[in-house]
Amino acid sequence: MSTSDILLSYTFIILGIAAAAYLYHTVRSRSMGWEVSRPRLVRCSSCNRVFLVRRQAPVARCPRCKGVSSAYLSK
Ligand SMILES: [Zn+2]
Repeated sequence: MSTSDILLSYTFIILGIAAAAYLYHTVRSRSMGWEVSRPRLVRCSSCNRVFLVRRQAPVARCPRCKGVSSAYLSK
């Protein structure tokens, strides 16, 4: 077995470890990570109050002034 073969096999081993670590991190963050869903976070159009809407609520009304709300975009 020549030196280039040994180096090539080491390269593949290191790449395999990196790919396994990336897959582990991806699966772990996908299963444990969470975030507030953006359509459920709305902003009142009259008093600018940002609040969360429950999943069952058909119409998102402002809890303070009962105004009409629109989707909140933080960007
Ligand atoms: Zn309001």
